[in-house]
Amino acid sequence: MVVCDEQGKIDILGLFPEELEEQIVALGEKKFRAKQIFDWLHVKRVATFDEMTNLSVQLRNLLKEKFCLKSLFVVKKLESNTDNTVKYLYRLPDGNHIETVIMEYSYGNTICVSTQVGCKMGCRFCASTIAGYKRDLTSSEILLQIYEAERNSGRKISGVVLMGIGEPMDNFDNVVNFLKILSCDKGMNMSLRHVSVSTCGVVPRIYELAELRLGITLSISLHASNNKARSEIMPVNNRYDIDQLLEACRYYFKVTGRRISFEYALIDGHNDTREDAKELAKLLGGFVCHVNIIPVNKIKERNYKSDRKSAHRFQKYLEELGLNATVRRTLGADIDAACGQLRREYEI
Ligand code: SAH
Repeated sequence: MVVCDEQGKIDILGLFPEELEEQIVALGEKKFRAKQIFDWLHVKRVATFDEMTNLSVQLRNLLKEKFCLKSLFVVKKLESNTDNTVKYLYRLPDGNHIETVIMEYSYGNTICVSTQVGCKMGCRFCASTIAGYKRDLTSSEILLQIYEAERNSGRKISGVVLMGIGEPMDNFDNVVNFLKILSCDKGMNMSLRHVSVSTCGVVPRIYELAELRLGITLSISLHASNNKARSEIMPVNNRYDIDQLLEACRYYFKVTGRRISFEYALIDGHNDTREDAKELAKLLGGFVCHVNIIPVNKIKERNYKSDRKSAHRFQKYLEELGLNATVRRTLGADIDAACGQLRREYEI
């Protein structure tokens, strides 16, 4: 996707091989140059055009004039004492900040990337939305979170979750462009089977995403089993209610055949009773799905709380009712890297 910076230079990391080729041929260069450049960017991952040593100095200078090559700066790196979670605070080229987390599972390292600077969605329990929304990330800025994390940590990333700061479906075009570059066989070549996209329920975009048949896992942040309880904690529910959301999910499954994952942040006294479980089972009965229970993580501005014991109790309720449910492992809680704890603020 062609995106320009303030100086009108094209963001080179956001181009597919064919788009890059078109640009390079327009400069009067041979097609194979585009392949070399794509490889420098996405396989060797250089930070400057001058490192592209198999290109002439003249071409490198031309590239500098026409394109920008972004990078992220690691402002802070926090490593968990309890597991191998690492959280990065990155500075973007325009001075804004975002956070990214690497998590270690038995099957490899998964990275949780941000898709926006801040968030507009206003979920009551989530830290990412508290300081409001600043801007969307470009596809290159989403991609660079992975490239920089791999470089800095020396760890190989084998899975990606779009569950950091921001609402991916509120930044649709950049997110889709990112997914296409991520899975491009000439670049990182990641199978989209290893990628999960999470949404609070921006319904029209779920239909659009279904049509693209990308093979990703769709996670729905449901968090409640009726509209009253959901609207109290998630303002998006006033716009697209549970019925509309589940209708979109049914469509998504019909078109893609992919099982949907429903996230359920358990909050003491709000959505944690046997009655809530019954209502949830009724709602999701007949769905090919999985429920992921997350004991709500603490954020300093709110009093919401829960614990693993309640989460396991709720899981038992759901299983008795025939639902497939797990309790999500809490990783990186000691460095505020768990679900809903990421922020765009730069706090020293
Ligand atoms: N905006 C997207 C992506 C964020 S993903 C979405 O809403 O799905 C982050 C996940 O963590 C979402 O399921 C979100 O609802 C959940 N979450 C947010 N704050 C949380 C908290 N304090 N405790 C547990 N989960 C939380």
